[in-house]
Amino acid sequence: MTAFAEAGRADVVRDGTGERLFRHRPGPDHRHYLIRTACGLSLPVDADPVETWAEKIARTSGFAHVRHTAELSGRCPDCDPERARAR
Ligand SMILES: [Zn+2]
Ligand SMILES: [Zn+2]
Repeated sequence: MTAFAEAGRADVVRDGTGERLFRHRPGPDHRHYLIRTACGLSLPVDADPVETWAEKIARTSGFAHVRHTAELSGRCPDCDPERARAR
């Protein structure tokens, strides 16, 4: 675990402003997030299969500058009423 990745783990972005700053982030900083729909926070997640898939499509299609977006969303354990009750 690099210091950079650790920093990314703490990279909390609020969704309430109308602007999702974590989207379309170019360069090595590019990553995908698991968005918490209830509290509006996001968690960077491993997306190697997505990157591999996107690269393959770009390579086989002959397209240049192929971009992609992918995001996951759901309720984090802290916001899930079902789990909170079971605690
Ligand atoms: Zn939450
Ligand atoms: Zn990606």
